[in-house]
Amino acid sequence: MCGAHDNITAAYEGFSAELIAAGLLIPTGAASVYGYNGVFEDVIERFDALVSHAGAALKPEVMRFTPLLTRENYLRTDHLETFPNLMGSVHSFLGTEKELPELIRKRQQREGWADDLGPTAVMLTPAVCYPLYPTATGTLPPQGRLVDLRGFVFRHEPSADPARLQMFRMHEFVRLGTPDQALDHRNYWLKKGEEILQSVGLDVKPVVANDPFFGRGGRVMAATQREQHLKYELIVPVASAEKPTAVASSNYHMDHFGHSFDIKSSDGEVAHSACVGFGLERIALALFKTHGYVPAQWPHSVRQAMSL
Ligand code: AMP
Ligand code: ZN
Repeated sequence: MCGAHDNITAAYEGFSAELIAAGLLIPTGAASVYGYNGVFEDVIERFDALVSHAGAALKPEVMRFTPLLTRENYLRTDHLETFPNLMGSVHSFLGTEKELPELIRKRQQREGWADDLGPTAVMLTPAVCYPLYPTATGTLPPQGRLVDLRGFVFRHEPSADPARLQMFRMHEFVRLGTPDQALDHRNYWLKKGEEILQSVGLDVKPVVANDPFFGRGGRVMAATQREQHLKYELIVPVASAEKPTAVASSNYHMDHFGHSFDIKSSDGEVAHSACVGFGLERIALALFKTHGYVPAQWPHSVRQAMSL
């Protein structure tokens, strides 16, 4: 057990060292927080264009949000109960001028100055579909809605694995509508996602998956999610072949968000939803791992698929 763990940690450290040496990742001093060079960004943008193109055929509404979610909307979800360890809350100094010298003193003496901060009206969003739901409260049109979303999200999960980031980009397509519309969307994108990833030479495999719900109650939720086949991931060997990485996932939420945000389908029932999410940094890392650190030397078919 311990040996396997050590092997994986060594694989993570070796892979990040190579990515940093190649200039692709720029370390920032924080675990799982990197800058990226132009080559890395170009791969992200070109892969993202493939995803946008595949989605455009379905004529989605395109919406872009910042990585912030109001605290009020955050609390309409059960994220605090189910993923408290991953949450990101934005705090600031909310005190008066009279209280500032104490904050400065604490900072200078390296005391717990952050204790003097207070919560702002916003949280960091844990998925790009979260800011959409509060805007969808009400009744959907008969054909439901399909939305293309892309942006940065935050998850507090520092790790040695360069593919497990604290802030990363997701491109999602979200379907709101009837149970059939949502389930069809989930299944359509599971297949389409696999095709897109295969078209860029990734050895991808679909697997039933679960979210990392917190604690003992979380283990029960995870087991139920797996039993009901609500979440599928597309996995690819990235840092380690032993422990492949999910580069995309396709999820059926049933009426979870419909309930939380009072969204109804046109027949008056609580709306169901599904989303597919492509993890852009993970896909770029999978491409660098599979094809090497120099895109100019990638196989012709991959370069052609990505217009590189
Ligand atoms: P999820 O909402 O957990 O299904 O995540 C959607 C996609 O985001 C996953 O399939 C991954 O590709 C990507 N992802 C999830 N967590 C991380 C992370 N910590 N770092 C980088 N990418 C991630
Ligand atoms: Zn989502």
